[in-house]
Amino acid sequence: MTRLKARLAKSPNPFGKALFAILTKDHLSESDWEDVEDTLLMADVGAEASEQLVKQLRDDARITGQKDPAAVRRGLRQRLIDLVDPNMDRTLVAARPQANRPSVIIMVGVNGTGKTTTAGKLARLFVADGKSVVMGAADTFRAAAADQLETWGGKVGVPVVRSDRDGADPASVAFEAAERAKNDQADVLIVDTAGRLQNKANLMDQLGKIRRVIEKNLPVDEVLLVLDATTGQNGMIQAKVFAQAIGVTGIVLTKLDGSAKGGIVVSVQRELGVPVKLVGLGEGPDDLAVFDPESFVDGILG
Ligand code: GDP
Repeated sequence: MTRLKARLAKSPNPFGKALFAILTKDHLSESDWEDVEDTLLMADVGAEASEQLVKQLRDDARITGQKDPAAVRRGLRQRLIDLVDPNMDRTLVAARPQANRPSVIIMVGVNGTGKTTTAGKLARLFVADGKSVVMGAADTFRAAAADQLETWGGKVGVPVVRSDRDGADPASVAFEAAERAKNDQADVLIVDTAGRLQNKANLMDQLGKIRRVIEKNLPVDEVLLVLDATTGQNGMIQAKVFAQAIGVTGIVLTKLDGSAKGGIVVSVQRELGVPVKLVGLGEGPDDLAVFDPESFVDGILG
């Protein structure tokens, strides 16, 4: 069993189970179908996708007239997997071998979503895979952010490039981190950024500058947008701001362990057209899982 499936099966993500319970009733009334739709909406699947899935499930029920729970489960499982889109490319760019240079990942997202924690966990994943990693603390607004990243670096055995000055230029830290990764011939560079959303123009400016200075040394392979699953549709609005500010190549959905809103995987992918690549399942170093639609659906079906 994959970790994603095992952990989700234990977390408060009951919408798959709830759907299954309704669909295996003896007779499905109009109000049961409304319950199906409400269950999807409450899990943050989004209005359009919920409506589409209800229609498909109604057609399936009409065509097969199935009452056999195993067959209903198989059908529901497949519909949910299709909804999460198994065809999106979820490979982490940095997991591919590069030609003699470090792969570069920039982490973006609103403060508190779990960016720094995810950077640390991601570094650990790469280290476990035998790769050498450098991290850059370009969140210079909060001194605590650099301290936090440094603590993660110590925990997972990865050097952290930071500034000792509060409010130092984040781009200069990013530049130094890229230089260090290049000189050290590291396999991966992970750059943590600040997520203050006070002003979109400002954010675009800062993220654009960070990207440009890194590119003086190395191409940027991946921009991971970190999104807190518990914030639901509010998080989506913020996600769009980041997606516009800097091209996003993948989404990390954090705090899925504490959320009943796992359907956000579906809505965020549809809204941004970018795949969920990783999910956060807790605060510990090993609580990051590579996302795959089958394990996710098996997890929420319990
Ligand atoms: P940042 O401001 O975006 O860098 O966010 P942090 O990395 O500081 O994380 C904010 C809080 O969320 C911390 O208390 C983390 O331990 C917690 N956190 C991060 N990811 C997860 C997760 O996947 N699950 C849970 N339960 N907590 C998380």
